[in-house]
Amino acid sequence: MAVYVVGHKSPDTDSVCSAIAYAELKRKLGTEAIPARQGELNPETKFVLEKFGFSEPELLTDGAGKKVILVDHSEVGQTLDNIDQAEILEIIDHHKIGDITTPNPIFFLNMPVGSTATVVKKLYEENGVEIPKNIAGILLASVLSDTVILKSATTTDTDVKAAEELAKIAGVDDMQELGMEMFKQKSDLAGKEPRELLFRDFKDFNMSGNKVGIGQIEVVSLSLLDEFKDPLYEEMKKVKEEGDYHSIFLMLTDIIQEGTELLSVTDDVSVVEKAFGKKLEGKSVWLPGVMSRKKQVVPFFEKAFA
Ligand code: MG
Ligand code: MG
Ligand code: MG
Repeated sequence: MAVYVVGHKSPDTDSVCSAIAYAELKRKLGTEAIPARQGELNPETKFVLEKFGFSEPELLTDGAGKKVILVDHSEVGQTLDNIDQAEILEIIDHHKIGDITTPNPIFFLNMPVGSTATVVKKLYEENGVEIPKNIAGILLASVLSDTVILKSATTTDTDVKAAEELAKIAGVDDMQELGMEMFKQKSDLAGKEPRELLFRDFKDFNMSGNKVGIGQIEVVSLSLLDEFKDPLYEEMKKVKEEGDYHSIFLMLTDIIQEGTELLSVTDDVSVVEKAFGKKLEGKSVWLPGVMSRKKQVVPFFEKAFA
């Protein structure tokens, strides 16, 4: 029976490309592994797959009766439906340890690095398998995507070294240029529905029993989002009601200015002040230097909700 390698819901470049690259490694090591995605690909990921010659992985949203390897997440709220009816063989990740449990011991590799792709590269090396040129390309793109071109607070020396080595294998001379091309795709918002933008990069968390959703839109200039802010805020209110959330936060991240405007719809506005020491001004608060959800936002909300 085939093993599916799959990343989180609202798939991002790291989630999709790490699944493709790790499935390829597993196949080389003799496992019938198939990469999968849990939803529509975002424009950046489509661009990356096309650039390096890959087609979209198949869609998989239900884990019932499947053997799976999870990459880039370990949270129940972010994984396949009916995960309790799946057999989880491995988890490869770079986030805080989530709430997925298994009945048996499994291979679980989680490293505090900037991307799952960095971990997958290490696994190629540990297994003595040469990284194919096109695989190096999508792994590099994943590192650049998750670390905001090696600028995010999540970036480690391991990521920088991995990116340099992957660029060499992939034949990418200028990774800054590749990164900017990718972020331009992300910043292309014309004609997009607010709901699509909100859910493009959106994660659910259980914070001390409260359902909290945190999305992120990364753009090369916040002014690109001016006309979208009000419709996005209205959409957040709707989603909060529909999904019975305590809070919905949306990070509007300016990757050039290096900071985030945090749009907030919450039952308790004090969690924002508790988390960041700053009060909401109307619908949002500006957080200078904040670019990483997992390192600069989630841990502070976890504490604020505790
Ligand atoms: Mg991800
Ligand atoms: Mg990632
Ligand atoms: Mg991200």
